[in-house]
Amino acid sequence: MGINIALDGPSGAGKSTIAKEVAKNLGYVYVDTGALYRSIGLYAYRLGKKTNEASEVVPLLPDIKLELKYVDGTQRVIMNGEDVSEAIRAPEIAMAASNVSAIPEVREFLLSLQRTMAEKHNIVMDGRDIGTVILPNAQVKIFMTASAEERANRRLKEHLAKGQNISYEEILKEINERDYNDSHRAASPLKKADDAVELDTSDLDINGAVSAVLEIIDRKLNSLRPQRGMAPAVNRFFFTFVRWIALGLLRIVMKVRYEDLSNIPKSGSYIIAANHHTVLDPVAIGVKMNNISAYMAKEDIFEHKIAHALKIFHAFPVKRGKGDRSALNTGIEYLNRGYNLTIFPEGTRSKDGKIGSFKSGVSFIASEADADVLPIGITRRKTRLGRTFLTVRVGKLIPYYKLKVNSLSSSELRHSRDIILNEVKGLVDE
Ligand code: C5P
Repeated sequence: MGINIALDGPSGAGKSTIAKEVAKNLGYVYVDTGALYRSIGLYAYRLGKKTNEASEVVPLLPDIKLELKYVDGTQRVIMNGEDVSEAIRAPEIAMAASNVSAIPEVREFLLSLQRTMAEKHNIVMDGRDIGTVILPNAQVKIFMTASAEERANRRLKEHLAKGQNISYEEILKEINERDYNDSHRAASPLKKADDAVELDTSDLDINGAVSAVLEIIDRKLNSLRPQRGMAPAVNRFFFTFVRWIALGLLRIVMKVRYEDLSNIPKSGSYIIAANHHTVLDPVAIGVKMNNISAYMAKEDIFEHKIAHALKIFHAFPVKRGKGDRSALNTGIEYLNRGYNLTIFPEGTRSKDGKIGSFKSGVSFIASEADADVLPIGITRRKTRLGRTFLTVRVGKLIPYYKLKVNSLSSSELRHSRDIILNEVKGLVDE
């Protein structure tokens, strides 16, 4: 199962606007389930049926085929081949949707479509019964509310912006009616799931609400992540000692400038992903970390005499270009034991100073171990005297849930890997 975020609440609480932004921020698919009920409402309405009569609506269901498509990240609803995304937004369709949504057969009809979306993707799904009925196992559930008056104000603005003529009073009345319908119907009434976090958006603007939601999600998903602690204390003592020596030696051979060290987490184990220029990159990075790291290193260097020394520093070999599962598992084990794991996803040092493509092993490990990734960009220059000058810039920790893939398909892994690559690229000077 991927990551499912359920966002429920009454109409006009700002769910869809906020859910869309939140999904964009996380790189998840946004599923607006209200659009599905609206489509069925539209279908019945166009045929002149009484939308509150089950006997008139239920027989139509076998003739309705709904699909959700995404165009430039925006959800489109396709009903029997027709894109109805705009038509379902007409004010009269809101009530039709509310009516048909009270019919148990309609809810049943839409259930599997919603669940399939959640199985296939990491999603933010908004609706009325997502946390209670559709996705009871969603990792994060949020119940979003706002006063009826505030919601009516917001809806009014939306309608006016679209040139739809409707009064505040009409909207308020409709919202109250829909609230009543939605929370009093027998089939999946609107109610907060026991384990949902409630968020009142009456006094929040969109940005404020988006930040509040992202914070709730971050807190919850971090609490669900394996809590790994740090590498064993005895080793850390040794590490502190070695670190000072390494720092001294490093200064003799090259000049290193560090930027944004405050982005380094104080504790915990995570993956460090950096671009690669010199054999001393692992040292330049390792000396500034608060935890001991294991290092994934290409196989050939273990043929050297230095192999023993490398092992003391928890370096382990990876066969390049072959999707070396056993090396990936070793990386995961180190993380599980509280170590950091440093990976140079290019797989080899850059010859021309440019960042090469990243291998997907880094995203495989991040996703399998639910590990955050600390991106680091290294820029190399030569001073006039021919000395190497490195700038090591530390980026912001990428939370594991932005890298999590649903299936381990190579396209998903590449996508997740590119998130890391782009962060690292942004940290390197041209
Ligand atoms: O969210 P939106 O206003 O587009 O939803 C239209 C109607 O569809 C709502 O008033 C509600 O009655 C119904 N609905 C539902 N369950 C959902 C989503 C929407 O009953 N998950």
